[in-house]
Amino acid sequence: MLLERARHNAEAQVEILESLETFPSTLPTRRDSAYSGWVSISVGCNNTCTFCIVPSLRGKEKDRRPGEILAEIEALVQQGVVEITLLGQNVNSYGVEFGDRLAFGKLLRACGDIEGLERVRFTSPHPAAFTDDVIDAMAETPNVMPSLHMPLQSGSDRVLKEMRRSYRSAKFLGILDRVRERIPHAAITTDLIVGFPGETEEDFQDTLDVVRASRFSSAFTFQYSVRPGTPAATMPDQLPKSVVQQRFDRLIELQEEISWSENRTVEGRTVEVLVAPGEGRKDAETQRLSGRAQDNRLVHFAVPDGAERPRPGDMVEVDVTYGAPHHLVADGALTGGTYRVRRTAGGDAWEALQAGATPGASPKPAVSLGMPSIGKPATPPPSAPACSL
Ligand code: SF4
Repeated sequence: MLLERARHNAEAQVEILESLETFPSTLPTRRDSAYSGWVSISVGCNNTCTFCIVPSLRGKEKDRRPGEILAEIEALVQQGVVEITLLGQNVNSYGVEFGDRLAFGKLLRACGDIEGLERVRFTSPHPAAFTDDVIDAMAETPNVMPSLHMPLQSGSDRVLKEMRRSYRSAKFLGILDRVRERIPHAAITTDLIVGFPGETEEDFQDTLDVVRASRFSSAFTFQYSVRPGTPAATMPDQLPKSVVQQRFDRLIELQEEISWSENRTVEGRTVEVLVAPGEGRKDAETQRLSGRAQDNRLVHFAVPDGAERPRPGDMVEVDVTYGAPHHLVADGALTGGTYRVRRTAGGDAWEALQAGATPGASPKPAVSLGMPSIGKPATPPPSAPACSL
């Protein structure tokens, strides 16, 4: 998660060890977005994936109490936050420490009761612990967004076993089917590792097959690299770089095709975008604004001449005119299509932040305190395999 935050914030991140051992709600929290925030629900992990250093660094899973989490979210909403992302190494095993296997679904539903909270996201769930009550909670809680980032890592059951990932590809695909049945427009993303020690061409083909069947809207694809101290680091049959690179390129090519075709299915649809600064690198040049749709797709949209310009943190409804491989273009308003701006408390908070008036927020946090701190959620989702550091 440190990598995730560092990539997102484009600056080095540090954690204070003590802040990981408990959840000191008294620690000062600062954030770099007035309208969205991270909220940690657990730290540590009870799994033992052989490529991952988290279990030895972070130890067993520790869960925050639901009341404490909800109080933190309510406090954020009071300050104008309209979007939160629940964070944990393995969010859907949340509750294991206090003996409630249904705790994560209940937490999602409780988020649905918080007035003013418009968007709830979470990262990352683990396929082995993904139960139908969570799918039901996602489908039945209007402010839980129709997007799911669920790490597959490999489509080969043999490699999954070597990774000590306790689900198999059929189970993974079954979860996707049930999510799509309940939430037809859900955009599903994943993490994949190519070139795990001993991965054969046949194993890799299995990954390509599962990727084809999964229809991910995007995937974060990583070349396996040795992490000292992990069981996989000393496994025999580490693959030559050239083989890993070649498979990686083939996987990227396949996923690009799928991402593009999935994004084209959104053309013509009206989407609600949470406007965000800095999401569109070419916005100044193209005269567009940018943000994330409910399903977390990146949207660049045109503002008609003379129309109200939404502030970051506001919502705008626009028609998608083109699905590109990595984003959507929504220029429908230029030809008389939908263009509805809704000012939100998030936009108000952003405006106040510009004047330096939002409590707890600052243009840039001086120090990130690690898990208990809050900041702008990851968009797009994680930049390193699964629950990485
Ligand atoms: S990859 Fe995720 S589930 Fe596996 S050990 Fe690491 S933190 Fe836990």
